[in-house]
Amino acid sequence: MAPENTRRWGMAIETKRCIDCKACMVACEIENQVPLGKHRNWVGHVGPTGTFPTLGLRFEPGNCMHCENPPCLRVCPTGATYQREDGLVLIDYDKCIGCRYCMQACPYDARYFDETRGVVDKCTMCAHRLDVGQPPACVETCVGGARHYGDLNDPNSEVSKLLATNEHTVIYEEAGTEPKIFYIS
Ligand code: SF4
Repeated sequence: MAPENTRRWGMAIETKRCIDCKACMVACEIENQVPLGKHRNWVGHVGPTGTFPTLGLRFEPGNCMHCENPPCLRVCPTGATYQREDGLVLIDYDKCIGCRYCMQACPYDARYFDETRGVVDKCTMCAHRLDVGQPPACVETCVGGARHYGDLNDPNSEVSKLLATNEHTVIYEEAGTEPKIFYIS
C-alpha cells in the first residue's frame, strides 16, 4: 500500500454490473444525511445501445469525479472548495457563502445547493469513512458489485488492477478536468 500522503483515491465503475437498483443512492443519502430531493450520486441511462432487434440500455452510476484539475475549485471566491493531499475535492462549509459559482463550473452537475444550511454540497467519496479504513457507502452497498474504490497510486489496489486489465473511459474527457472516476464497460 502506498504511503498515505501519496494516495490518490479514485473509483472504477463496471457499468455491465449495474442493474439500476439505486441502492447506492439510498446508502449515500442515509450515510450523509442528504436533504430530501437532493442527490450526491446518480444512475444515468445511456442508450439505446446495439442495433434492432437486440437493443439495450447501459446504466452509468456517477458522483463527483474528484477531478485532478477541478474547475469548481478555481472559481470558488472564498477557498471553500479545496483539494486534499489524497486528491479528494472537498468543501469547507464554514467558508462557503452559497454563491453557487462552483455549481455552474462543474461539467458533471455534481453539486447541489442546500437551502437549509445555505451552502453548496456534493459527494465527498465518504472521506470520513475512508479516513478510518472503510469503503464509501455507495461501494459497500452496491448490489451488483459495480462500484470499486481504491488508491490509484498503488498498483496493487483493486481499482488499479481493474484499470490495468480493462479498457476504460472517463466522462467529458475533453473538458480537461482529469476525473478520477473511471468507467469499464
Ligand atoms: Fe468539482 Fe464537478 Fe469535478 Fe467534482 S466533478 S471535482 S464538483 S468539477
